[in-house]
Amino acid sequence: MEAGRLLFAQPCLFFHAAQRLDQLPPARGPEVAFAGRSNVGKSSLINALTGQNALARVSSQPGRTRQLNFFELGERLTLVDMPGYGYARAGADIKADWQGLMFDYLRGRPALQRVVLLLDARVEIKDNDRAVMDLFDKAAVPYLVVLTKTDAPKPPALARKQAEVAALAARHPAAAMQALFTSSQTGAGIPELRAFLAEIAGVG
Ligand code: GDP
Repeated sequence: MEAGRLLFAQPCLFFHAAQRLDQLPPARGPEVAFAGRSNVGKSSLINALTGQNALARVSSQPGRTRQLNFFELGERLTLVDMPGYGYARAGADIKADWQGLMFDYLRGRPALQRVVLLLDARVEIKDNDRAVMDLFDKAAVPYLVVLTKTDAPKPPALARKQAEVAALAARHPAAAMQALFTSSQTGAGIPELRAFLAEIAGVG
C-alpha cells in the first residue's frame, strides 16, 4: 500500500492525445489503460487515484471523443484514458466504437501491461461490457475488472453484484482472477488499486 501511496503522490500530467495509430506517442515506460462504458465513473476514479480534480476532464465528452489520452505519473507509469463506449445507444455494437484504433492499440502496444476495465455497481452488466471482455481475451491483453460506485447499492445488492463480477472475471482467460471493488466517493478500494498499479510500475 505504501508504494501505491508514494507513486500516486507524484504529479500526473497529461502529455498526449492520439486519434490514429500513427499518432501514438513513443512508450515512456509501462502503460495501463482505463476502459469502461460512458458514465461508468472513469474520470472520477482517475481523479480519485491521482488526487487531482479535473485531470480526466479532457476526455469527458461522452460518446464523442474517439481518442486515447496519455498521462504520465511520476515518470514511472503511463495512464491511458480510453474513450467510454456504449453511450446512450442501447444495444449499440461495440465494433462501431472500438474497432480500428482501440483494438489496434490493445493488440499492438508492447508497453501496455494491463487494462483496467470498469463496471458500474449501479447498473446491469451490459452486452457491450461482455463484448469488450471478449475483445481483451482476443487481443490477449491482461485486464483487471474494477467495480465502481460501490457506495451506491444497498449491501445485499452490492454482495450480489460483487459475486457476479467475480464469477465473470473468473470465466475470462485474460482477466485477473481477483476483481477490485471501489468507490471514488468514499475512497473504498482506492489504496488497493494504487498498490496494484505501483506493482506494474515496478515501484516498491
Ligand atoms: P465517466 O463518464 O466514466 O468519466 O464517468 P464520471 O466520472 O463522469 O461519472 C459519471 C457519474 O457517476 C457522475 O454523475 C458521477 O458523479 C457519478 N459517480 C462517479 N463515481 C462515483 C462513485 O464512486 N459513487 C457514486 N455514487 N457516484 C459516482
